Amino acid sequence: MEKNKFEFDVAVVGGGPAGMMAALRAAEKGARVVLVEKKDFFGTKLLMTGGGRCNISQAESDLKKLAQSYKNGRFLLPALRKFGPEEFSRYFERLGVGLKVEKNGRVFPKSEKASDVVGTLRKRLLENGVNFFMESEVAEIGFSGSVIEKLVLKDGREVVAQNYIIATGGKSYPHSGSTGQGYGWAEKIGHTVADPEPSLVPVKSEAEWLADLQGVSLSDAKVGAYQDGKKIFESQGEMLVAHFGLSGPMVLNISGKIRDLLKSGDVVLKVDLKPHMDAEKLDEVVRADLERNAGKKLANCLGDLFSEKVRDAVLKLSKIDTEKHAAKVSREERRKIVFLIKGLEVPVKELFGFDRAMVTSGGISTKEVDSKTMRSKKIDNLFFAGEVLDVDGPTGGYNLLACWSTGYAAGENSFRGF
Ligand SMILES: Cc1cc2nc3c(=O)[nH]c(=O)nc-3n(C[C@H](O)[C@H](O)[C@H](O)COP(=O)(O)OP(=O)(O)OC[C@H]3O[C@@H](n4cnc5c(N)ncnc54)[C@H](O)[C@@H]3O)c2cc1C
Repeated sequence: MEKNKFEFDVAVVGGGPAGMMAALRAAEKGARVVLVEKKDFFGTKLLMTGGGRCNISQAESDLKKLAQSYKNGRFLLPALRKFGPEEFSRYFERLGVGLKVEKNGRVFPKSEKASDVVGTLRKRLLENGVNFFMESEVAEIGFSGSVIEKLVLKDGREVVAQNYIIATGGKSYPHSGSTGQGYGWAEKIGHTVADPEPSLVPVKSEAEWLADLQGVSLSDAKVGAYQDGKKIFESQGEMLVAHFGLSGPMVLNISGKIRDLLKSGDVVLKVDLKPHMDAEKLDEVVRADLERNAGKKLANCLGDLFSEKVRDAVLKLSKIDTEKHAAKVSREERRKIVFLIKGLEVPVKELFGFDRAMVTSGGISTKEVDSKTMRSKKIDNLFFAGEVLDVDGPTGGYNLLACWSTGYAAGENSFRGF
């Protein structure tokens, strides 16, 4: 072997969740594997997941329903059938990662530490004899026309393998290492790449009340999206108010629809803080509160309905004199309070870009990849896994599950038949 040339059965590019899974599975099958990672650490993005707690998977056991949650979910279904939520849980428990399921089927490591997940995977990769090339950026893929011949690293080293797995991720949070290089290589060798777009992103707004409510987490708010005064869609769930705008799972999940809507004009979101009460019912509740507290200043009422922070912000927006006693609040003023609670306005300025997107929507066309094996339909010795594919899902562990599932399929099939 030449000094600068290294030979393996399987070469995996990208040490994120998909690449680590693929490398581990191929090694378990007996392959000589190299995992090539440009950073000095595996799973930089994985460490950031779930705010460091790592929402590692999704427990939905109805696989058809699960697949429907994804873009190109039909493509993902065969991989989920082989390595879905149950197989994932068994496999990771066996690796030594204890798991627990929280609300809405969100799966977390029992330790609530993403670093434990990365640490365990790294340990198992080493135990299975996987070779690590760290701080090793793949600059180019050597391609003969029908097969991949080698990986050329930035420092000039060359990696030769029977099969290659590209798991370079998307374009979001580029400082984590995912800069979209995989797309360029795939296009060069004849694959179609659906335009990558930032997905699951927070919303930016300059609404003044946001500053008063920053940091407030609403476990069940309803957001309606309006254009030209007409409600286009609405969604309900967990939301976070930030000084820059809105975030939290529900808002991230509707960000794609908001992006589409912005293409045809301005969008205003209306946040309903009490979605379980219609305006009439809420008016009754507010009236009863004001009557009960008739002798108190308005500023000290409505405490049963909201936290102080939310109450103060709503009253500030209403511009009603909060020093007056509750008994003096007029019907119109009360209605104004109700109106605000049912529809705090958030004119959308724009959405965040790749720098704050949880995932990339778009990527290597699933039409050109075999859904059972993740093998390229164009090049026999090439496989894809993870976010580099044109598959993405909502928040809740869906995206990592897709990485484990496609990574497993690619690893399993990259060493079959030798
Ligand atoms: C803040 C944040 C929180 C998230 N939280 C969750 C969550 O809780 N649950 C969930 O399901 N999903 C979550 N996601 C999404 C999830 O992290 C990604 O979908 C997942 O990491 C994608 O995995 P991947 O292996 O495909 O790619 P990546 O994790 O992006 O890994 C790709 C790897 O390839 C390497 N690489 C790239 N180019 C080269 C090259 N040329 N040479 C060598 N190496 C290269 C990169 O350095 C990187 O290590 C979150 C994402 C973010 C940004």
